[in-house]
Amino acid sequence: MKGLIFGPLGAGKGVQCRKLEKQEGVRHVETGTILRENREMETPYGTPADYIEAGDYVPDEVINEVVEQILRDESRFILDGYPRTMSQVSYLSSITDLSVMVYMHVSDETTLNRLKNRQICSSCNESYHEEYKPPAQTGQCDSCAAPLVERSDDDEEIIRHRIEVYKEKTVPVIEHYSDQLDVISIDAERPHDVVWKELSSAIRPYL
Ligand SMILES: [Zn+2]
Repeated sequence: MKGLIFGPLGAGKGVQCRKLEKQEGVRHVETGTILRENREMETPYGTPADYIEAGDYVPDEVINEVVEQILRDESRFILDGYPRTMSQVSYLSSITDLSVMVYMHVSDETTLNRLKNRQICSSCNESYHEEYKPPAQTGQCDSCAAPLVERSDDDEEIIRHRIEVYKEKTVPVIEHYSDQLDVISIDAERPHDVVWKELSSAIRPYL
């Protein structure tokens, strides 16, 4: 299983990928997480920490190197948040082959509603929502009991802007892979457990 997952913010990619990792042993390689976990990883362009600590975006060259080093030891993975640009696409094709792309689609309105008022676990990153997915105990993560925090960038104008940026940058990447790979297209408007049922059976032939 060498896969990619795409979908706008709030599509529930993280939820589905964590299930895939737990139940099927497919490593969830999410860009934000691997950069945090490998802050000190040396690359010819410096470490991720060099950029993060300066408040800069981690450049493509560094992200590419980190992904390459992670994938070197993985034969079963799903990439989430990478590749995000056509230059990352061509780098990725030089380091690994791929078999399948999962595409989760939701409307802009759903993205907006799911991201507004979202709370994130300060320890394991699980996300909660007062309406769609409330925690069992207010302010506390169901899986690890750590406190939940508000995402400061989740206000409406910022979310709309991120939706536009996502479309502009990532849609060409998705179109590129649609021609190259098998595509599992999932209607992610539905509840997470319904989506999981469909995804887990559609992805079985690739596991
Ligand atoms: Zn947690």
